[in-house]
Amino acid sequence: MSIPLLDLKAQYGAIKDELEAAVLDVLRNTQYILGPKVAEFEKALAEYCGTQYAVGVANGTDALVLALDALGVGPGDEVITSPFTFYASAECISRLGATPVFVDIEADTYNLDAAQLEAKITSRTKAIIPVHIFGQPAKMDEINKVADAHGLKVIEDACQAIGAEYRGRKVGTLGDAACFSFFPSKNLGGAGDGGAVVTDDEELAAKVRALRQHGSTKKYYHGLVGYNSRLDALQAAILLVKLGYLDGWNDARRDKAQLYNKLFAGAELVVPVALDYVKHAYHLYVVRVPNRASVETVLKEAGIGCGVYYPVPLHLQDVYSGLGYKLGDLPVSEAASHETLAIPLYPELKPEDMERVAELVKRG
Ligand SMILES: *Cc1c(COP(=O)(O)O)cnc(C)c1O
Repeated sequence: MSIPLLDLKAQYGAIKDELEAAVLDVLRNTQYILGPKVAEFEKALAEYCGTQYAVGVANGTDALVLALDALGVGPGDEVITSPFTFYASAECISRLGATPVFVDIEADTYNLDAAQLEAKITSRTKAIIPVHIFGQPAKMDEINKVADAHGLKVIEDACQAIGAEYRGRKVGTLGDAACFSFFPSKNLGGAGDGGAVVTDDEELAAKVRALRQHGSTKKYYHGLVGYNSRLDALQAAILLVKLGYLDGWNDARRDKAQLYNKLFAGAELVVPVALDYVKHAYHLYVVRVPNRASVETVLKEAGIGCGVYYPVPLHLQDVYSGLGYKLGDLPVSEAASHETLAIPLYPELKPEDMERVAELVKRG
């Protein structure tokens, strides 16, 4: 009777034959790193997103690092991002020797508050990384307007939002480049690590392509200090199969989110706010409850999965103690980190299980 936060076995069971055939094909073919399967996946991903280029890399974190590197971000530069996200959104900035600058979030969407951007821009600011947190696109028109006014690059951290739309446009097309993660639990997940950078900028795509392969465009000739960050063919084959199901899965996530919203009507908690001009990808269904610890206990005792995303906002992480932030600096993120809780949501989740989850959340 337990209900997991995410059930990858249900997904696997539904498309087992197709996945296994795709994997066997790669095994027998023995072209394991990059090669035609990865090229095929990159083409399909670019078509899906509506971008000119897609470059497969080893994981979502590397997608961010390589995109920033290709844009020339380095020591002395500042890059603005959200403090209410997975660490990689800021780690990529630090990895390149640049400094993350955190701007607080909106209380309803948990996304970067565009109205607070301008105040954090300095002569060293090079780029902005909006994160489409939990699958909902950030307010890109407002963010791009500020970026354009200051000549800043915009890189979408779309790791949680593949397939989401903003004013009729898919994420991935809303900035200078966008980064995806194919970590198994993401809306489009591989059987291991994987990631991609998508862009319409030919030069940027070429640079990321070189960087992922030791800064090389011709074997054993190196023009850049690069990385070893390649997507492998097994992941590409799996992702190609799953890409065909992604829109259906995201539709199912949206339907289930609507059902939860109905089940929670009138309850003392805050359900996710979806802007009317976006198509939310509901990577996670996150409620806000003042009594979070007690809700967690009730759910855990009943065998129901739940998760705190994220318990410590990034400006208060140990690693950033040298940046000079203190408790109270970014109050909206800090409050969210104390009250948000993700409850089970996946395309195969059964309505009767959702009723049980909702009852227990309300009881907590
Ligand atoms: C998952 C995730 C990443 C990192 O992706 P990996 O593939 O795990 O490296 C980056 N940013 C956000 C917002 C994520 O959710």
